[in-house]
Amino acid sequence: MLKDQTFLRIPGPTPIPPSVQQALSRPMSGHRSNETSELFASLQPGLHKVFGTTQDVLILTGSGTSALEAAVVNTVQAGDEVLVIVTGSFGERFVGICEAYDITVHRLDVEWGTSFQVEDVQESLKKHPAVKAVFATFCETSTGVINPITLLSKAVNEVSEALTIVDGVSCVGGVQTRMDDWGIDILVTGSQKALMLPPGLAFIAASVRAWKCIEMNSGRGFYLDLVKYKKGLKQNSTPFTPAVSLLFGLDEALQLLEKEGFPEVFARHTLMKKMTRAAFRSLNIPLLTNDEDASETVTAVQPNDFDADAFRKVLKSEFGLSIAGGQGRLKGKILRIGHMGYCSPADMLQTLAMMEIGLLKIGKKIELGKGVAAAQQVYLTMRGTK
Ligand SMILES: *Cc1c(COP(=O)(O)O)cnc(C)c1O
Repeated sequence: MLKDQTFLRIPGPTPIPPSVQQALSRPMSGHRSNETSELFASLQPGLHKVFGTTQDVLILTGSGTSALEAAVVNTVQAGDEVLVIVTGSFGERFVGICEAYDITVHRLDVEWGTSFQVEDVQESLKKHPAVKAVFATFCETSTGVINPITLLSKAVNEVSEALTIVDGVSCVGGVQTRMDDWGIDILVTGSQKALMLPPGLAFIAASVRAWKCIEMNSGRGFYLDLVKYKKGLKQNSTPFTPAVSLLFGLDEALQLLEKEGFPEVFARHTLMKKMTRAAFRSLNIPLLTNDEDASETVTAVQPNDFDADAFRKVLKSEFGLSIAGGQGRLKGKILRIGHMGYCSPADMLQTLAMMEIGLLKIGKKIELGKGVAAAQQVYLTMRGTK
């Protein structure tokens, strides 16, 4: 095996396109220089499209969680009540952040592997009328579920004044996102998932209504105080030294998305989801989620007759192929395959072919090629045979 060849099919970090890799190694420039200011200004139009917003998209230096924390500290304070919709580990993360700031958390727990229902959110809000913000996860990376974020704000607004705050880290950039049209008050994402960049940048945008709340909040902290970032952006700058190299990479990544065209980017992700699911179905290996809840960017598989972690080990040693295991209560029980960002249907055919060999190697009886053929069929059905 080529020791330097690896196949990264985990739901983040994800592979980096060669042109982004090159951009990342451009010579450093001063973060207060004209060049960096110009670069910084030029990033906004692309980010607006990714978020589906006309609001400023603020760029933080930190992993995705820094922006989740920013969403919390900027909108609510100790003693305030919030509702956190927990569909998996990343819902738990919002709970953890809120509790760290002594915010009173009401949980809406949803069975892991399924999406939440907006009617249940409305019920919870009626029970807890003092809730100031509802926290939700767009793609729950730990289960491969895409939640009905398109419907959430409208449902919340019907029964409550609460802000709707959404973690879109593992799908924004890969699935259609219309923050403004959907009425999302705060949307967060990170660099290392669908945006084809290394970890290290987090992005956050807020609605007019959310900004009013943020500006009135006296406890915004220091590093994550979004008012500072908004003021910075007005001067095409940041309050603290940004990860300049990652901004070079972001510039290139946004251009790649633009060149491919957003509708095609979204269609590519949908195709990869369908190919992956068809392959496992045809091999009779259960999927964790139903078709309706399944994410475009990550597929969770729940084996019932082989050891998920032993399978992952074989793939790693045989091919340098990394797929993810379960998190939290699903540890050791599921496999998670990332198909987002710099990943194509061609990559998935290769990944599925490698996985079939891995299955045979751990002793699962399958008909070689069956999963790949199912994926090929999906490809041809969706893309045409001519
Ligand atoms: C990856 C991810 C995050 C951010 O995690 P970091 O390790 O802080 O980058 C947050 N939410 C979701 C849904 C994610 O998939």
